[in-house]
Amino acid sequence: MAMKIGEKPFFDRVDDALENDFMRNAMASAQDRLRDKKLDATERDDEIGDWEEWRSAGEEIRRHTLENLDYYLDQLSENFAAKGGHVYFAKTAEDANRYIQEVARKKDAKHVTKSKSMVTEEIGLNEALEDVGCHVHETDLAEYILQVDDTDRPSHIVVPSLHKNKEQIRDTFKSKAGYTGTEEPSELTAFARSQLRDVFLEADIGITGCNFAVAESGSISLATNEGNANMVTSYPDTQITVMGMERLVPTWDELDVLINLLSRSAVGQKITTYVTNLTPGVEEDCVDAPKEFHLVILDAGRSNALGTEFQSALHCIRCAACVNVCPVYRQIGGHAYGSIYQGPIGAVLSPILGGYEEYGELPYASSLCAACTEACPVKIPLHEQLIRHRENYVAEQGKPKAGEKLSMKAFGIGASTPSLFQIAVKGAPTFLKPFVKDGSISNGPGPMKPWTAIREFPAPGKDNFRSWFKEHKRGRK
Ligand code: SF4
Repeated sequence: MAMKIGEKPFFDRVDDALENDFMRNAMASAQDRLRDKKLDATERDDEIGDWEEWRSAGEEIRRHTLENLDYYLDQLSENFAAKGGHVYFAKTAEDANRYIQEVARKKDAKHVTKSKSMVTEEIGLNEALEDVGCHVHETDLAEYILQVDDTDRPSHIVVPSLHKNKEQIRDTFKSKAGYTGTEEPSELTAFARSQLRDVFLEADIGITGCNFAVAESGSISLATNEGNANMVTSYPDTQITVMGMERLVPTWDELDVLINLLSRSAVGQKITTYVTNLTPGVEEDCVDAPKEFHLVILDAGRSNALGTEFQSALHCIRCAACVNVCPVYRQIGGHAYGSIYQGPIGAVLSPILGGYEEYGELPYASSLCAACTEACPVKIPLHEQLIRHRENYVAEQGKPKAGEKLSMKAFGIGASTPSLFQIAVKGAPTFLKPFVKDGSISNGPGPMKPWTAIREFPAPGKDNFRSWFKEHKRGRK
């Protein structure tokens, strides 16, 4: 499945990530930067008024839309088709790819340009198009970098190449694209621009994702910063937009609210540099709009969440604010999740779309601190959904692992039997002594091993709370 990144088991990927100090430092500083920009544009911005009211409005819009999804999808597809557009409802990723391959075949397409789109990553569209002889060109700078680097995979839903620094990008461009310049961002960008200019001109088909579709007019809205989406949608005669079936709003008024929430939460801007709204049906002599416009509306597992406790996960507007505050993402980065959707929303969404067998361990990639829920501009209760997933995962497996069950049972007996608890507390300093160095435990035994391999655990002292309390009660200290 194209949503999947890598073949290693989850905990092996986590181990790899924890050994990569460079990546972890890069993630930490990127998270701090992105979170700070978001706070400046939301809670700290007096101009926007009460941010909590904006969040409530966003939550209400998304809830109302999802509760009436069939109605608004009908309205969207009717309005899109009435203006001459072609609508295709794809039940699976394979259905969507087949439809798009067919359009490419009919057009005898050789070159396809794409703007950034996680949903096309999700369905593996590039590979499907290459199978029918198309050259697919990513035109978003971050996606272009990943494509030049032998189709490296995204590590962040808004900034897909977050795991690379400018020196690495320079080296990639040098070894794989004939670049001869320095690591200066302006030089690197100018090089990418020069490479992409001709690509835009020769494209037969342009493909985009969809930030939001507007049901009342049958329009597509794209929020971007680089202008490449405008090039993708204005040069080729044929345009295809792929949207997750939940990514729509009833009217332009709701779009206004959600674009504000998205721009401010995702990139800390009052509004992105471009907000491009596209509706099929152009004048015959219009030269900068597609003559043929296809809208592929994708289910691919989304309907699994409808009518369940996970329905609100479909409210997501893909801003990555939850990713940018997650302490687990900070430590393990994006690739460790093994899904193109990372961080808290990835840990909630991936099991819904791809099942527990593939992604059942992801909900454990959370400290349940709820920072994600607090950051979410449409108030998705992410930490609660992570707990629900854990419950379902254990229930689906039939029974917890034998070792886990045994240790929890032993802990339960120990913790609920005062005499055993006291023996354990008193014996702990002696038992753990061989592992203590400079007042803390490193490389501890048994279940402590993974924890203490990367962090220090305070060594238990001779005094414990019970003895301290006893002494105080007697009034001796
Ligand atoms: S879950 Fe909320 S915070 Fe996370 S990406 Fe989606 S909308 Fe943004």
